[in-house]
Amino acid sequence: MFDAGRGAIPRIAQKQLPFDSIDPLFVSHLPVDHIGELSDYLITSWLAGRRKPLRVFSPPGTAEVIDQLMGGVYQRDIAFRTEGETAMGPFIGAQVTEIRTGETVDGGKWRVTCDEMRHGHGLPFTERFLSRWICLGFRVEAEGKVFSFSGDGVMSDSLIRLGQGADLHLQCCYLARSDIERNPQGKALAEHTLACSDTAGKIARAAGVKKLVLTHFRATTPEVLREIEADVRQDYAGSLALANDLDDFDV
Ligand SMILES: [Zn+2]
Repeated sequence: MFDAGRGAIPRIAQKQLPFDSIDPLFVSHLPVDHIGELSDYLITSWLAGRRKPLRVFSPPGTAEVIDQLMGGVYQRDIAFRTEGETAMGPFIGAQVTEIRTGETVDGGKWRVTCDEMRHGHGLPFTERFLSRWICLGFRVEAEGKVFSFSGDGVMSDSLIRLGQGADLHLQCCYLARSDIERNPQGKALAEHTLACSDTAGKIARAAGVKKLVLTHFRATTPEVLREIEADVRQDYAGSLALANDLDDFDV
C-alpha cells in the first residue's frame, strides 16, 4: 500500500481488500492528504484481525508522528478497546523504518527503491524546515515488471530516474495548464511543488514509461480532466489514463 490519505479506508472496504493482511505500507510524506487515515488504518486493521505490527517504510519523522497519534490523540480509544473491551487483545501498531534517498527495501519477491522528490524546494523555506520535509517517490520491481510512483513533486532528475522504463508510472498532476497560466499562485505551485499538466507528459516521455497514469488532481470536473488529458497528450504519445477512485490497472 502506498500512502493512507483521505478516502483510503472506505475505498479498501469498497474493494473488499483484506484489512488484516495488507503489508507493508509505504508513505511518501507526511501531509494530511497522504496520512490523514493512517491512524484509522492502524486501528481498523488491528480490529479486523491484524496480529503483526504493520511494517511502515517512510521518510524521517514518521515514527514521531505515529507515536503522537497512537500514544496521544488516540490513546483513549486504544485504552477503551484494550482495558475494557479486551476481545482484540493488546493493540498492535506499526513497525516503522524511516528511509531516505537511494535506500532499497527487499521483500523477497519485490524490491522497492526510493528517491527524494522536489516538493516545495525553491520556495522561501528555511534549510531546517526542508530537512524535516522529505518527500519520497518509489520504484517497485517485481516479477520482471516496474511500477513507479511520483509521490508529490515537480520534474527532477531523481523523478525521471525513478520512473525509467516503468511499465506503469503513477504521476501526480495537480492543475491544468490554463490554471497555471491564469494565476501566479498556480504557476508557482507548478514550478516548485506539484507537477501539473504542463510537465506530467514531459516527465513520462523523459523517463520512457510504457503507461502513464495521472492522479492527485485539484479538481475532477469532466472539463478539467479533459483539459489535463489534452495538455499531457501534447508531450506524451504512450498509453495514458487519468485515475478514478477504485480503478484497477494491470502493470
Ligand atoms: Zn499531496
